[in-house]
Amino acid sequence: MVKRLGLPDPPRLRRFTAGTPLTDGPVLLGAAPGGRLADHVGKLLSAVGVQVAESAGDGDRFGALVFDATGITDSTGLRALYDFFHPAARSGRTSGRVVVLGTPPESAANPREATAQRALEGLTRSIGKEFGRGITSQLVYVEPGGEGAVESTLRFLLSGRSAYVSGQVVRIGAGTPGVPADWDRPLDGKTVLVTGAARGIGAAIARVAARDGAEVIALDVPAAGDALASVANDVRGRALQLDLTAPDAPHRLADLLTGLEVIVHNAGITRDRTIARMDEGGWDAVLDVNLSSQERINDLLLARGLINAGGRIIGVSSMAGIAGNRGQTNYATSKAGVIGLVQSMAPVLAPKGITINAVAPGFIETAMTAKMPVFLREAGRRMNSLAQGGLPVDVAETIAWLASPGSATITGNVVRVCGQSLLGA
Ligand code: NAD
Repeated sequence: MVKRLGLPDPPRLRRFTAGTPLTDGPVLLGAAPGGRLADHVGKLLSAVGVQVAESAGDGDRFGALVFDATGITDSTGLRALYDFFHPAARSGRTSGRVVVLGTPPESAANPREATAQRALEGLTRSIGKEFGRGITSQLVYVEPGGEGAVESTLRFLLSGRSAYVSGQVVRIGAGTPGVPADWDRPLDGKTVLVTGAARGIGAAIARVAARDGAEVIALDVPAAGDALASVANDVRGRALQLDLTAPDAPHRLADLLTGLEVIVHNAGITRDRTIARMDEGGWDAVLDVNLSSQERINDLLLARGLINAGGRIIGVSSMAGIAGNRGQTNYATSKAGVIGLVQSMAPVLAPKGITINAVAPGFIETAMTAKMPVFLREAGRRMNSLAQGGLPVDVAETIAWLASPGSATITGNVVRVCGQSLLGA
C-alpha cells in the first residue's frame, strides 16, 4: 500500500532490547556558560559507559546531542543554541536523540530568564520536525534542586525506550529520588495494577512492568477473562476480573488489595458519534469508564491508604483529549478530563509522596486502529514527525519510566507518545 502510493519508507526506530547500550554511539554534550547541569550529566553518562564528546569533528556521528541551556538568562543568550546545533545538525545517527535541559520558566529568577527558558520549546519542537531519520527531540525542564533527579529521565529519553516520544516537554521537580538497586529492574518488589490489561496497550504495560521486576495485577472485564488469564500467566501475575464501572467496583478492588505502589488507569472505551447523533448511553459509558471510575477508585484506595508512599498513579489520556476529534466529543472530554485529574491531583498528592502523571498516545498499532478505513489509517500513521504509528510497547515504556523510583520528582506531567503528531499543541 505504502509502496503503491509512492510514500517513502518510514525510518526503522531503535527500540529497547536488554543488554544494548543506552545510546547508539557517543553523546555530544554542550552547555551555555554557567549551566548547572552539564557537569553532572557528563559524569552520569560516563558512569553508565557512554562516551561523551564536547566538540564535533568532521564526520563524527552521534547517538545523541545533549545541550544544557540552564545558563541562558536572557534572549540574547539563545544564540548559544545556534552555535551548538548548527554545526552538529547533520551529525545525528538514525534514531538518535536530542535533549535540551532548561530551567522551568516559573522557577526563573526574573522575566528575562523566564522568557529565554520558555523560548527553548520552539527550538526543540522544530528540531523534532527537521532532523528526520527517527531522531527525537525533547526539552527537559529541571527545577533548581532537581539536578540529582535527572537520571531516570535521561535513561528513558536517550534510550530506545522512548522511540515514539518526540517534541515533548518534561518537568522534573526538586529533590533527590531513590536510585533503583538495579536499573534493569527498577520495579523489583513493587506491585503494579494495570486496568484493561487483557489486550492492546494494557497487555504491553503489564509485560513491560513485569520485565522491570514488578508483581503485576492484571485487571479487565469478566468477558475478557481468557485473554486476561493468558496475559497474567505470561507475566506470572494475578488476573482480576472486574468491571470498573460496577457500583461496588472500588470496594471490591480495595478489599482484594493489601497495598500497591503503582496503578495504571489504562482501560478505556470509545463510542464514536457526532454529538448530534450520540445517544445519552454512549456519552455516559465513555465518561464513566474513561474518567469517573478512575476518580472513584483513586479516592477509595487513597482513603484506605492502599497506595503506598512513593506510589504512582498513571493515567492514559489521548491525543483526542488535547486536539479534539470529530465524532469523539465524549471520548475527548473524558481524555481531557484525565489531564485535568493529573493536574489537579498532583499538588494534593505531593505531601503524601505520591506522583500522578499521564501519557497521551497518538496513533498506536492496536486492534482498535487496525479497524480504521485504510486511507484514514495510513494518514493517521503518517501525520507525525516519525512518519509511522507507534507500538503498544512505546506507551508501556513511557509508563515504566514514570513508574520508576527514579522518577519520584516527576508529577503533574502529561507526556504524549505520538511521534510528535501534527495534531494538537
Ligand atoms: P483496547 O480496546 O484494545 O483495550 C482496552 C481494554 O480495556 C480492553 O481489554 C477492555 O476490555 C478493557 N475495559 C474496557 N472497559 C472496561 C471496564 N469497564 N472495566 C475493566 N476493563 C475495561 O484499547 P487500547 O487501544 O489498548 O487502548 C488502551 C488505552 O489507550 C485506552 O484508554 C485508550 O483510550 C487509550 N488510547 C489508545 C490509542 C490507540 O491508538 N490505540 C490512542 C490513544 C489512547
